[in-house]
Amino acid sequence: MYAEVLVELTNKNVDKTFTYHVPDSYQSKIQKGIRVEVPFQKRTLEGFVLNLHKNPPEYDTKDILRIIDEEVILTEELFDLGKYLKKMTLASLISCYQAMLPKALKAKKGVEIHKKYESYIKLEDKNYIPTNEKQQEILDLLKKGIVPKKRIQEISDSSMKTLLKKNVLSIVMEEVYRGMRNQQEKKEVSLTIEQKRVIEEIEKSPSLVHLLHGVTGSGKTEVYIALIEKMIKNHQQVIVLVPEISLTEQITSRFLERFDRIAVLHSRLSDGEKYDEYRRIKKGEVDIVIGPRSAVFAPLKNIGMIILDEEQSTSFKQDHAPRYKAIDVAIWRMQRHHGKVLLGSATPSLEVYARCLKKVYGLSTLSKRVNQKALPQVLTVDMNQEIKHGNSIFSSILLEKITQHLEINNQVLLLLNRRGYSSFLSCKNCGHVIKCPNCDITLTYHKSSNTLRCHYCGYGTNLPKVCPECREESLQMFGTGTEKIEEKLASLFPNAKILRMDLDTTSKKGMHEKMIRSFKNHEYDILLGTQIVAKGLDFPLVTLVGVINADTSLNIPDFRSSEDTFQLLSQVAGRSGRGSQSGEVVIQTFNPDHYAILYAKNHDYLGFFKQEMIFRKKLGYPPYYYLTTVLIKGQDFKETQKAAYQVGNFLKEKLTSSIVLGPVNAAVSKIQNTYRFQILIKYKKEDLLYKTLLYLENHYKGQSKIQLDIDFNPNHF
Ligand code: ADP
Ligand code: ZN
Repeated sequence: MYAEVLVELTNKNVDKTFTYHVPDSYQSKIQKGIRVEVPFQKRTLEGFVLNLHKNPPEYDTKDILRIIDEEVILTEELFDLGKYLKKMTLASLISCYQAMLPKALKAKKGVEIHKKYESYIKLEDKNYIPTNEKQQEILDLLKKGIVPKKRIQEISDSSMKTLLKKNVLSIVMEEVYRGMRNQQEKKEVSLTIEQKRVIEEIEKSPSLVHLLHGVTGSGKTEVYIALIEKMIKNHQQVIVLVPEISLTEQITSRFLERFDRIAVLHSRLSDGEKYDEYRRIKKGEVDIVIGPRSAVFAPLKNIGMIILDEEQSTSFKQDHAPRYKAIDVAIWRMQRHHGKVLLGSATPSLEVYARCLKKVYGLSTLSKRVNQKALPQVLTVDMNQEIKHGNSIFSSILLEKITQHLEINNQVLLLLNRRGYSSFLSCKNCGHVIKCPNCDITLTYHKSSNTLRCHYCGYGTNLPKVCPECREESLQMFGTGTEKIEEKLASLFPNAKILRMDLDTTSKKGMHEKMIRSFKNHEYDILLGTQIVAKGLDFPLVTLVGVINADTSLNIPDFRSSEDTFQLLSQVAGRSGRGSQSGEVVIQTFNPDHYAILYAKNHDYLGFFKQEMIFRKKLGYPPYYYLTTVLIKGQDFKETQKAAYQVGNFLKEKLTSSIVLGPVNAAVSKIQNTYRFQILIKYKKEDLLYKTLLYLENHYKGQSKIQLDIDFNPNHF
């Protein structure tokens, strides 16, 4: 027998299967979809068996060295899904399969993640008569089944040893799952009339994809829970995708108040924990899987629904190969399972909302907060005026409000919008800005380590004393980091307990969850953070939200900058007044008349949608046009530029129904000494797109000097 094996090399020119001979001793164990070890050139590699057959190839074949799995890893569904992903993203097939699996199963040599076993005690002799009370207690406990050794030792280590010696008891090794959560007491919630209405709408919706558009705090999560309860009763399972780790923890704890059979797959789990969760899913031990983008691949067998909470989040698109969108995978799977895709958001992406208006997707709306609670009052502060009075970070009105809300013992959440924004070093004398030597990007100052760092390649350096350009001692820090604001806050509010959350303070495992919990427990008065505090969190005591700088995300040269800003401001405003007291929001901005800010201020999604659609139509951007970018990368500037022009001319010639723009320097024109040129393709309908790009992809596959990165529907460019 022969096996077609897809080896682990992600290099594009080995993107095909190789034929190996299956030795007789393995004939009974080999199956499609398992991992094997094979000799490849002078190495040993892992790979997936994609096919088995009896036709000897014309060349000499080598033997498969080892069978890794007893159970199929690539189930039939995943097998087909990988092929679909490859077709959609033009990534290599092996990278598509690897993207669907936890690290332990990715077919990568050198990754050793094992099952975990623990010692259990088993009762062997049921007729033994105990000689003391401790022995009696142990035997009673073991009557119902095996018990962890630790638990028996707690009763009496010496009695256990005696009984083991007499063969009354034995030790057995049992597999245990890492990272299991404790069960919680269950809660009941009676749904509001509005919630009942949308649940019925969603259940009756004839559309494969349905959007639940609900303002912040309108009870969307409760709607998900009610729908899931019904699915489970119907023996169906559900996947819930959440945009980031911060929300995984919160939604998980709310789900644990209602369900037990849950698996969580978030990125902060150890590889062992992820492996265990994955196996619980595969064995059918859970009904619900919660996790980020990659959880969409969870190998459940009868999925009734895939939910994408905060649908608009850019994290639902993978930003490296395979560049897939979770929603496309969800749609593919739900077609196969005859289930539904439910999108939830307070601020849906324009693409999704436009599809709802065209009746391609179903739409249900929750326009009010639960129990008629008012949305918070939003005030904008013109920072141009404040600067004149010397207030560069905090306006006087924001300070006044912070004081008021702290006085009545409420909590305050402050957002530093760091999108497109950081502290950097620049020379007052000559204007020189300190940049990364490998990348075309400004180095960012990190106060905790007192270093300058590159966010693209990780390059780090100590602060220079003099300007490398003019040799003057006139370097100055620009921009304001969270640390600086924390210092300032601490001096202004010496009695307030301040919690700072940003990438620096939350990078340690478990820190993020811990911080959120302690803020919720009112161990702190002010939460100061970056984007990670803006979304989805539910802190009932927060009655004031302050946005320190609304504009930085507006200034990014990206067609989505207004949409990003509107979403961010609406989201963070939604954190205010979620408990029994009503809330307030203060937005500090240099552009108080910008429509993104005005519509966010008025909680007017539809108003924003309409105005933004006019802009998108005028400039030919999504949802009116689809976009695809082609990035041409190479180490040699001239060669790369030349290739970029060749690619550009080729595309302009072939794609006659599209607008092909460029090549231009990419937004970051150099990363790690690799030059980057970009071509933008805009189209409404382009039948030749995939074919043409596949041709290009194949053409450049074998060339080591030039790499192409093709991105369909990029998040940013
Ligand atoms: P969203 O996900 O739309 O932001 P949530 O589901 O988090 O809204 O609901 C907001 C708050 O209202 C939460 O604290 C939640 O527990 C509460 N809530 C939601 N539905 C109900 C209900 N039917 N009865 C009582 N409280 C509810
Ligand atoms: Zn760099």
